[in-house]
Order: sequence, then C-alpha cells, then structure tokens
Amino acid sequence: MRMPDKLSAYCRKCQKHQVMKVKQEKGGRRSGGLNWSHRRMKHRRRGHGNLGRYSKKPVTQTKMASKTSKKIDLRLTCPECGKKAVMNRPRTKRIEIFRAI
Ligand SMILES: [Zn+2]
Repeated sequence: MRMPDKLSAYCRKCQKHQVMKVKQEKGGRRSGGLNWSHRRMKHRRRGHGNLGRYSKKPVTQTKMASKTSKKIDLRLTCPECGKKAVMNRPRTKRIEIFRAI
C-alpha cells in the first residue's frame, strides 16, 4: 500500500480541512503489570491447578498464521493546532509512505 506523507483531512479542533502530515506509529508499549484485582486473584489461586502445564494445548502454527496482513496505525497531525488523529486502520502487508509534492 502506498500512502502520501501529506493529505488534506478535516481537523476536529480547527473545524476545517487542513493539509495534514501522515505518520506511521510503531509498536505501542505493552503494559506488563497486573492491575489490582488480577494481583489479588493471583494470590488467591496460589496452590491450585497445574499452571497450565498439562491441560493447555499448544497454539498451532496454522492458527497463528491465519491472517497474512496486519492492521497499520496511521496518525494524522494538524500543522496548525498539533492535534493528532487516528486514521481508519487499513489491513495491509506492506506500507510505503511516499513524498507528496
Ligand atoms: Zn487543527
């Protein structure tokens, strides 16, 4: 998929169309911690079960690769107010952002 790096889009803050910059956002940080209720339940369940060692079937390779494309995260930035907006996230294998005039 080819995307121009600038395109005209509506800014909700300025309430008009602007030539906005397109940027691909990469890799959001995943929070590894557990929240309060999860921590409590983890503590309560201590001493029970087999930690999923025998009951859980392994995820098969075919199941993991059922989708061949990924949703990409494109953000539009308004040059006037600096407001960022998320574009509709299209599915594509490859993205190429080319320089528009
Ligand atoms: Zn704006």
